[in-house]
Amino acid sequence: MRKPTIEVIPGRWAIAGADAILPDRIFSNAWIEIESGRIRSISSIPKRPPKSISVIDGTGKLVAPGFVVIHVHGGAGADFMDGSVQSVVQASHAHLLHGTTSIFPTTTTGRAEAIHAMLDAVLAVKREHEPTENLNPLPHIEGVHLYGPYFAVEKSGCHSKAGCRTPILDEYQSYFKTGLIRVATCAAELKGCLDFYRYAKRRRCLVTCGHSNASWTEMQAAHKAGMTHVDHFWCAMSNVASVRSRFGTPMQGSMLEFVLGHDSMSTEVIADGCHLAPELLQFAWQMKGPHRLCLVTDSNRAMDMPPGKYLFGHPEECVWIDSDGQVGRGADGGLASAIQGMDHCVRFMAKHTQVPLPDIIRMASLTPAERTGIDQEVGSLEAGKRADLLLLNKKLQIDKIFLGQRARRV
Ligand SMILES: [Zn+2]
Ligand SMILES: [Zn+2]
Repeated sequence: MRKPTIEVIPGRWAIAGADAILPDRIFSNAWIEIESGRIRSISSIPKRPPKSISVIDGTGKLVAPGFVVIHVHGGAGADFMDGSVQSVVQASHAHLLHGTTSIFPTTTTGRAEAIHAMLDAVLAVKREHEPTENLNPLPHIEGVHLYGPYFAVEKSGCHSKAGCRTPILDEYQSYFKTGLIRVATCAAELKGCLDFYRYAKRRRCLVTCGHSNASWTEMQAAHKAGMTHVDHFWCAMSNVASVRSRFGTPMQGSMLEFVLGHDSMSTEVIADGCHLAPELLQFAWQMKGPHRLCLVTDSNRAMDMPPGKYLFGHPEECVWIDSDGQVGRGADGGLASAIQGMDHCVRFMAKHTQVPLPDIIRMASLTPAERTGIDQEVGSLEAGKRADLLLLNKKLQIDKIFLGQRARRV
């Protein structure tokens, strides 16, 4: 793998002459000035650049905001559900090297103890590991995606069926008490789901429905209770035929129609090229637009590892997947999570769809930042935001990753 360098530059500095990828356009030959890890300004190259600052030559390069990944299970041999500090560090660092500067480690189905172990490990890393002050730099851990265990068994996909259950207040309250949960998933047909959605909404989470065979009517009730997002569009979700298998005729709308029919609903696509063909990726963008579609990696521990057999989720769940070096597959040969980083997804979108580059980058950065409420801080090249930046060549390969600094709280 081509390894980019990770840089943390103190003081005042600038990138000169690169094409800056803004959310709605490309600003050519830009001057991007940074001070104390924050973006100070983006402008044309000044006639007389300030003398006292160091300048990085960006000629022939692109600058993008660091990627924001809201759905990711692991990488480099580690799964977040391993429940150890070492695994959180290992997987997060691996994703940083793929351009992810903001990450939401994602739970899977499993016993409550396993989910607590994961939350404790993430908390320990957040407390003890300043992203920019270590030999092993990490992306900023913005929160956790409570993804499993509240899945519909019939749509559990590669996740352990034994670990799926309905949401119980006592259980999820104990997860939310950590203060870490920023994205919260539950299938919309499960008993107690509406209380879960309201609870998560009150805590300002991105509230999402996934691994579900929900009907239009169930989605409508869920939406009213605060659910505004659907996990990995087309994967492990309902369609008209699967809803018909529950309710017969007349055929009813599914998650798919509900998402396409409501502007208030956002969704995400696994853009690794193995889960969805280019026409579906492009169709999702055409239908939802770049403000309502996120790119996600959904990567597991097999990312950056040789082909072979890997455990998915907590080792106790004993769910094995096969990696062929391109994608993960379950025992039945079905898709079982991805093994690519976000940089690969961005390149795949650019090469195989007609989606303009600013939209692709937006879907990998600003849109997930907006949906999770961190867009004041990250997600775009904008004065005042944290200087989490990627310097890319014209093939969209990452040369350098710059990590910014959190705003100082007064
Ligand atoms: Zn999934
Ligand atoms: Zn997943």
